[in-house]
Amino acid sequence: MNYKDIIIVGGGASGMMCAIIAKEKNPDKKVAVLEKQSRIGRKLLSTGNGRCNLYNINCNNSQSYHGSFSQKMNTVFKSCSVAKVAERFSKLGLVTHTDNEGRVYPFSNHAGTVLDVLLYRINELGIEVISSSKVTSVAKESNSFTVATENESYKCEKLVISTGSAAAPKLGADNSGISLLSKLGHKTKPFSPALCPIEAVDNTLLKSIKGVRQKGYASLFDGDEFIKTESGEIQFTENSLSGICVFNLSALIKTLNNPVISLNLNPFTDDYGQLLHTLKLSASAFKDRRISNYLDGIFVNKLGIAIMKSAGIKDFKKSVSALTKNEIESICDVIYDWKFKVKKPDDFNKAQVCSGGVIGDEINAKAMRSTIVDNLYICGEAIDVDGDCGGFNLYFAFASGIIAGENL
Ligand SMILES: Cc1cc2nc3c(=O)[nH]c(=O)nc-3n(C[C@H](O)[C@H](O)[C@H](O)COP(=O)(O)OP(=O)(O)OC[C@H]3O[C@@H](n4cnc5c(N)ncnc54)[C@H](O)[C@@H]3O)c2cc1C
Repeated sequence: MNYKDIIIVGGGASGMMCAIIAKEKNPDKKVAVLEKQSRIGRKLLSTGNGRCNLYNINCNNSQSYHGSFSQKMNTVFKSCSVAKVAERFSKLGLVTHTDNEGRVYPFSNHAGTVLDVLLYRINELGIEVISSSKVTSVAKESNSFTVATENESYKCEKLVISTGSAAAPKLGADNSGISLLSKLGHKTKPFSPALCPIEAVDNTLLKSIKGVRQKGYASLFDGDEFIKTESGEIQFTENSLSGICVFNLSALIKTLNNPVISLNLNPFTDDYGQLLHTLKLSASAFKDRRISNYLDGIFVNKLGIAIMKSAGIKDFKKSVSALTKNEIESICDVIYDWKFKVKKPDDFNKAQVCSGGVIGDEINAKAMRSTIVDNLYICGEAIDVDGDCGGFNLYFAFASGIIAGENL
């Protein structure tokens, strides 16, 4: 049987970083990464629309994280701050730039550059990467683990599970983390999609505005009960609401009975009176225009028409002067509070991350070590924690990989 001192199952963001730190600390030990895909770091290449938003300078608040491990995020920030992740990438030779929202990208704007610097260091350190090797079972004996792939069996003293979540199965993701960790006796929560577009129950109007983007506020309700608001660019797709602000609401929907998203596209934010005043002024200034062009000064034409349809306007060929006071008020209401009944996200292919994984209670966050199995470490998305959109998830993957590596 093949013996390694340290085996890392999963060569994604957290596993690669963990391997580098562990081998730097233990240069004489045999460190191996078992990866089920034909190469390591495949998901990383698709991150940030191919640009890889590798962390966010504001990753210092546990409020940006959700799930049972989120209470322990302050410990993670203490052990591995954003500055420490930044320093680590700088040591790897990566030059980065930061946008106005604190999102950090490689200077090349190319996710491949992030993977290149990680792979270079992995090769330089002599870390063994065993790809096309899906780990199918793990077992703990008194002082070692047996790790079986479809073709081989390995023994190791210390084991790291960094298998990620089930988000984006097309990039190789599955439920491995949950099944391997359950076999080792850990409690787990099933994965469910997070950071994904939210499908509307009725997509009739959305079809007509597919591709439109508009800044505004998206608020999540359970029936009439307010849950959370996010602001930013809302993107309309054929059947869904999308954009970062919508993504950040998606994980919350699964627990709701009657999820509704309300969009506030009011250019004057919360000032309903000013919006109504503006609509009345344009109704009188542009009374001879067709109704189809009534909102052209505020929204792209097809968005304006969809809003007016939602407000009950049917005849768009008439002139604006035909709009009644009630109709103008209804249009104002929709701009201010455009309600969409929405479905619970269920498509892992559209999700960037997942809620669920091994529950937080069973992990010592100072070392990313299991509290129930000796010499077992867990990092990245296999843990029940998911961050907001904007670099928060890769930060956690890298930071938890660094912490585990330092403690191996
Ligand atoms: C399209 C997309 C865009 C994203 N963009 C961003 C972004 O810009 N910024 C951000 O912060 N986050 C982003 N994310 C989220 C981010 O990619 C993940 O949070 C992060 O990759 C998690 O790291 P990880 O190491 O836990 O898992 P992964 O990176 O998913 O790595 C897990 C690895 O384990 C391997 N594996 C799984 N099971 C086994 C097994 N049984 N045996 C062997 N190997 C196994 C997998 O093949 C994979 O290589 C994005 C996600 C997606 C899908």
